[in-house]
Amino acid sequence: MDFQFTERQQELVAAAREVGEKKLLPRVEETMSVEKLAHLRGLMAEQGLLGLNLPEAYGGLGLPLLDTLLVTQALQIVAPILGGIAHRSSTGAVGAIAEYGTDDQRERFVRPSCAGEIGISIGITEPEAGSAATAMTTRAVVEGDEVVLNGRKQFVSFVNYNQYTLVYCRFGTTGRGADIGAVIVPHDAPGFSHSSGTLNMADELLFELYFDDCRVPVENVLIDGGAFGKLISVYNAERLGSIARMIGSAEAAFDYALGYSKQRKQFNREISDFQGIQWMLADMRVKLDAAKMLCYRAAGNAGATGLPNPTETSIAKVFTAKAAKEICDDAIQILGANGYTKEYPLAHRYAEVRGGSIYGGSMQIHKNMIAAALLERRISQWKRD
Ligand SMILES: Cc1cc2nc3c(=O)[nH]c(=O)nc-3n(C[C@H](O)[C@H](O)[C@H](O)COP(=O)(O)OP(=O)(O)OC[C@H]3O[C@@H](n4cnc5c(N)ncnc54)[C@H](O)[C@@H]3O)c2cc1C
Repeated sequence: MDFQFTERQQELVAAAREVGEKKLLPRVEETMSVEKLAHLRGLMAEQGLLGLNLPEAYGGLGLPLLDTLLVTQALQIVAPILGGIAHRSSTGAVGAIAEYGTDDQRERFVRPSCAGEIGISIGITEPEAGSAATAMTTRAVVEGDEVVLNGRKQFVSFVNYNQYTLVYCRFGTTGRGADIGAVIVPHDAPGFSHSSGTLNMADELLFELYFDDCRVPVENVLIDGGAFGKLISVYNAERLGSIARMIGSAEAAFDYALGYSKQRKQFNREISDFQGIQWMLADMRVKLDAAKMLCYRAAGNAGATGLPNPTETSIAKVFTAKAAKEICDDAIQILGANGYTKEYPLAHRYAEVRGGSIYGGSMQIHKNMIAAALLERRISQWKRD
């Protein structure tokens, strides 16, 4: 066990941070138009910041998962949108296509995603299937050389910026998880539409997707059922990607509050002179380091497969989601009223990490999974009549 980063990892992080601050940050706007986001994505591809962990054979950089998360985290510190783009093009939905797709699918989706030409959302959640994801009813039926989808998804991120959604859907009719597979749906497919989006706390849009006899070429079927477990094993890498983003935001909030505490004077002395502030800073740093260790352990242990252990992922998620909220909350406290205004970056950092307790499996669902691993048994949450 080695707790030091290699020289290469340190260089990667420093380079990502420098490119982020000097070349990318000047292109980041509070509300990004579709065109400007596409431009930013292209710029990130040119700088080698997309497809971080994806195979070099399909345009990726082939980095280990840990290095991928370190770069994502470094970009997230600079600006959440940069961490978000790096995450989505590396550990996002595209990862499932890299893992399970045909060569043709990898050429059509993984390569252009690594090149920053396309983006792929992920559609799992439905109105009646949130935490109980396997209750999804969106149905896919293969008809000749097409697959026909009917149903609805909700709370899907980034749909306005992306060209495709990887839609989890039911191929069979047993009503069990075994029916579930996934289809790559282009946003211009006939029978597909989406809402104009609902703003979340962090001012990001979440979309409803509608499939009304939506027809997609059968070549876009990623897996036709029997695959929920397989999809979720790749999804654990996605979970770690968003954990790295939470850590990046918590670190940015911590750094900001630390700097502020050394400048701001009350009672004729810096507020960092007060033990009440010092202990808050110490607690923040302890939580930040602990979150990093758990995240890096899960990523480091993923090894060559790049597929992290589910329990280690859940442990990292439960700790980080709570710690990141508390760190951002303490950072706001250290800034006083300034921290609570939108003039300062902390309110946004808090709003953003707050979602981490809900998406990608809520805190409670991850605790259920940790308990099931501890007790070595499946603990069904379903009510039996
Ligand atoms: C910022 C953000 C981005 C998102 N992006 C996407 C996306 O791109 N694609 C996508 O498909 N979805 C996305 N989601 C949706 C997300 O995956 C769901 O919100 C999540 O699965 C929880 O479902 P729900 O909101 O319906 O909550 P519910 O399932 O209704 O849960 C409500 C509460 O009950 C608790 N609960 C439920 N079941 C149990 C149980 N068995 N034991 C203990 N507690 C339980 C939950 O923890 C929660 O606190 C996003 C959500 C957020 C907040």
